[in-house]
Amino acid sequence: MAIITVAVTTAQQHKTENLVIVTLDGMRWQEVFNGADEVLTNDSVFNHDRDGIKSKFWADNVEERRKKLFPFLWNTVAQQGQLYGNRKWDNKIDNANPHWFSYPGYNEIFTGYPDTAVNSNDKILNKHENVLEYINKQQGYKGKVAAFSTWDVFPFILNEPRSGVYVNADVDTLSFKTPALQVLNDMQFLTTKPIGVRPDIITYMAAREYLKEYKPKVLYIAFDETDDFAHAGMYDQYLGSAHAEDAMIRDIWNTIQSIPQYRDKTTLLVTVDHGRGDKVKANWQHHGSRIEDAHEIWMAVMGPDTKPLGEVKTSMQWYQKQLAATMAQLLGMKFTANHPVAEPITTVYAK
Ligand SMILES: [Zn+2]
Repeated sequence: MAIITVAVTTAQQHKTENLVIVTLDGMRWQEVFNGADEVLTNDSVFNHDRDGIKSKFWADNVEERRKKLFPFLWNTVAQQGQLYGNRKWDNKIDNANPHWFSYPGYNEIFTGYPDTAVNSNDKILNKHENVLEYINKQQGYKGKVAAFSTWDVFPFILNEPRSGVYVNADVDTLSFKTPALQVLNDMQFLTTKPIGVRPDIITYMAAREYLKEYKPKVLYIAFDETDDFAHAGMYDQYLGSAHAEDAMIRDIWNTIQSIPQYRDKTTLLVTVDHGRGDKVKANWQHHGSRIEDAHEIWMAVMGPDTKPLGEVKTSMQWYQKQLAATMAQLLGMKFTANHPVAEPITTVYAK
């Protein structure tokens, strides 16, 4: 009897019925919390248009500066949600895996298991079960979990053939009946590809139109441009993509809040696969285990179960491997798999 009472109470306490997850590949916490970097903004090698990015993204005051770069994170999430990872306050979130590049990072986010053997970006089907796959098996969620990615390795990371999660990546045809998705399908095959895969805006618009038409309960959007422009040493383009992705996150939030199935019943979680260098300034371009600070990441969360703490300024240590269980917990589920799964981040949903 007591057990039943507890179960009912828990079910009533969580309001999240849907989840939208967004990742910005290789986006540094340094810019998320401090805005444009002064040294990099003024570097003539890393920018074609220093005056242009200064007029768009520079302010002497840190609070002003980060709002210019990430207006949605700092005007809305900072008011209604939580932001983790500003090491100025000793608030830390890190990779637990030792590799600090993309596949191991996304594996850690979604499997909750930083298996050291996951050590390549190659198109290898991931043998570990992920939380999206787990959710897709639960009652009421089957066929209601979808992922849209710019990078073409996601069908392997999420093991689309086994998991049953719909994964649309790069040149995967958008074979849908709606006119908007048909136009986007033409666009993705006709567009130029500055980073070698479809632009993030096409990934985003496809995800948004899919959400409006097919109403998934869990939607994952994986952006990529920030990492590619950083590797190319194009700081102005890196900031431009970060700013555009913030606007897309605002747009998906506004879309969610305009649809009754989602409004006030959806949690948004934004994070990153790995950090990049900063202690050695030129290493902002790079990441991987040889870059000493590339394990430093960040996270933003907002939704009906998340207290509006804003920028969390208390000393904490969380790990990327805790995100999988956190996502499940937000939906009132306990993620289990045939590998160890790290504990959820309790402060995200604590009353
Ligand atoms: Zn990279």
